[in-house]
Amino acid sequence: MAENRRFLLVHPEIARTKYNFSGVIDNEPLELEYISTMLKEEGYETEIWDGQVETESLTQKLQTYMPGYVYVCGRTRQENFMKEYCRAAKMLCGSMTFVGGLHAQHNFRRFYDGDADYILTTFDIYKIVDILKGKNPKEIDGICYRTDDGYAENPSYPFDIAKLPFPDRSYFYRHKDKYRYLELLPCAHVRTSYCCPYQCKFCYRNRLNCGVYTKRSIDLVVEEIKEIDCDNIYFIDDDFLVDADRVARFVKLVKEQNIRKKYVCYGRADFIARHPGLMKELKEIGFYYILVGLEAVEDKYLKEYRKSSDTSCNTAAVKILNNVGIHIMGMFIVDLDFRGRDFRNIYRWVKKNNLKHTAISIFTPEMSSELMEQYRERLITHNPEAWDYLHVVAKPSKLSVKMYYFHYHILVAGLFIKGWRDGIYDFIDYGFYIKSIVKNMFRFGG
Ligand code: SF4
Repeated sequence: MAENRRFLLVHPEIARTKYNFSGVIDNEPLELEYISTMLKEEGYETEIWDGQVETESLTQKLQTYMPGYVYVCGRTRQENFMKEYCRAAKMLCGSMTFVGGLHAQHNFRRFYDGDADYILTTFDIYKIVDILKGKNPKEIDGICYRTDDGYAENPSYPFDIAKLPFPDRSYFYRHKDKYRYLELLPCAHVRTSYCCPYQCKFCYRNRLNCGVYTKRSIDLVVEEIKEIDCDNIYFIDDDFLVDADRVARFVKLVKEQNIRKKYVCYGRADFIARHPGLMKELKEIGFYYILVGLEAVEDKYLKEYRKSSDTSCNTAAVKILNNVGIHIMGMFIVDLDFRGRDFRNIYRWVKKNNLKHTAISIFTPEMSSELMEQYRERLITHNPEAWDYLHVVAKPSKLSVKMYYFHYHILVAGLFIKGWRDGIYDFIDYGFYIKSIVKNMFRFGG
């Protein structure tokens, strides 16, 4: 019988509750588009199913497409969905199943109780091809695979990002009305690096790719961007502003080639504080949002988090970006050691520094990190769906969980109302979000 060479690539829905950022931030499934390109080159037929945008269920998709192979990616909060999809693929189609992505890379053992045949522990997507070509799994690094006794684990090595192909964006183009970053619709994703050279304690990203930062040639990045049929580009690197010379070359090439787009990227406050001139140039070529992990308004927390930056850099970064006219999205962590006044201090700091865009994450020890060992005894849930930074997963030290949520929701509501007054979220349904926040405030949950 001829091999069934249909390969379904799955990105699960973000959450099954309405309290998520669907319709506000919806991300192009870039990882799947890379895999799709690679598989097509190998003679496979591929389709993508992205739970963020699809109207038919995955079960329906499986029943109509009947793939021979299914790959599922996802974050920690999507772990349950990932397992459910592998189970469905096995039951309905008897597919060979692959699991990969950010969560699985370091938490592969959490999938040993499921229906995954292969788990990728690397960014090297070409390992999938090695498996499909029948190479002995013992000889394929960067994977875990099913054996008669359970699973075997092979070592993982850093991947050179330069090996990635240009992604096949046909799925993105078909769903351009869905993929957005806030008011930037549509918004295409571009990756120029993996990992991050910094060592922030709470962060998962700096441990990926075996902790090795790898970047693409910026000239090739510009080539890629030029060809993308989309006016908005979101650099999904963990930190795009690492190397000032590389960023300056990007500016130069974009100017020379007269590329006119808007850009979103992540960057650190200390980099912005050190390079005000470069920020002005980024504004000139179209940088629209820079997402900055300000994290805290007190140096003791920044020190504790090993942020290698301080609050004076935070203040300077907000001022510089406000002055040049790039929207700064200030991201904060509300620590599990917070008292009520600490939540209020964040609000005061935001107001005083005229920071318009904010995002608040609840301190969450990542599952495979050293922090998890520190917090394991304090965990109040084991459900991976709570690892969305909107839920308290470990017991706060100075407040009850109930009061912690109360202060958290007051802060979120205060910042949201401030954003409403500043007119920054005019593209969303304010009524819905205010109702959600108020409901959660009195339910004392996330
Ligand atoms: S700078 Fe950002 S991406 Fe890098 S380790 Fe710190 S938090 Fe993580």
